Amino acid sequence: MIFMQSAGAGWLHEDADIMGTRISVELFHANPELARQGIDTVLREMRRIDTGMSPYIETSELARLNTSAQQQPFKTSKELFSLIRRSLEFSEMTGGAFDITFASVGFLYDYRNRIRPDETQRERAAALINYRKLVLDPHSGTIAFSGPGVHIDLGGIAKGYAVDRCISLLQELGIKQALVTAGGDSRMIGDRWGRPWSIGVRDPRNEDKLAAVIPLRDVAVSTSGDYQRYFEENGIRYHHIINPGTGDSARELQSVTIIGPDATTTDALSTSVFVMGMEPGLELINRMPDIDAILVDQKGQLHYSDNLQPAKKAGNGVKASAAPITH
Ligand code: ADP
Ligand code: MG
Repeated sequence: MIFMQSAGAGWLHEDADIMGTRISVELFHANPELARQGIDTVLREMRRIDTGMSPYIETSELARLNTSAQQQPFKTSKELFSLIRRSLEFSEMTGGAFDITFASVGFLYDYRNRIRPDETQRERAAALINYRKLVLDPHSGTIAFSGPGVHIDLGGIAKGYAVDRCISLLQELGIKQALVTAGGDSRMIGDRWGRPWSIGVRDPRNEDKLAAVIPLRDVAVSTSGDYQRYFEENGIRYHHIINPGTGDSARELQSVTIIGPDATTTDALSTSVFVMGMEPGLELINRMPDIDAILVDQKGQLHYSDNLQPAKKAGNGVKASAAPITH
């Protein structure tokens, strides 16, 4: 996603590299001290969530859960427990397309070093993927794995969750106009100089080109694409969004953008719809009254959920909807 305007006077803007991705905060408050406090609060919160939920930090709560829950129930923080519970709701909602235990296969890939499992390794590891193997006990606040070889990775939902947390903290500070982005996940509150925020969905095969431009107000938006972390081998693209059924990268679409009320939901759904593919994906979104979607297929063609059909008609060259989408 690309944000179109640059910040004006009175706005603060800061970028940082946290959670293995680019974090960006833009906000306005008439009191410059409070505005500065808003920026610092967001960066601190992003670091806090990364420290707890990164699978790469050995001491993170998530890493400790992964090593302990094979043997015995692991007592988690309320926060991790509820995010995992939320993840399971998305698994149910998407027929298992969203599955945080995809990590049983996921850890066999190293996109930067062009490493992937061979077919036998992949099939063996894919057989371990099943969110139903996570046993959550709300009374004791523990999580256990009911089989061997289960691993969790929250990469499909944690950034959206972090964005939502940051927006809540900004609202508590009294900030009413802000945009918080973590990689492909963003949420904005209020407007920008009385005008909606304008976001561009990039062309998945050309980072300098836009596939669509949409005006937004008070919403979250997430994009999942096959161009963020990938390598190609014999013309096949191996990327970071995994079909839990096969353990292989999902290849029906090039990108999925979801617009909805909160970033935890849009993050999980963008990953899910990417895995589900066009027809089942759009069908799911069209059943959800407050969610919209823009899909880019393998030919680079755009497909819109029912609520966005007017946006499609308004297009000239770059497609844009006339009225801002708001929730
Ligand atoms: P990004 O992390 O680039 O913002 P996404 O939101 O699409 O992109 O999430 C992709 C991440 O989600 C992967 O890097 C991985 O950590 C995780 N993931 C991959 N496949 C699945 C899946 N089927 N279900 C849940 N999470 C997944
Ligand atoms: Mg996602």
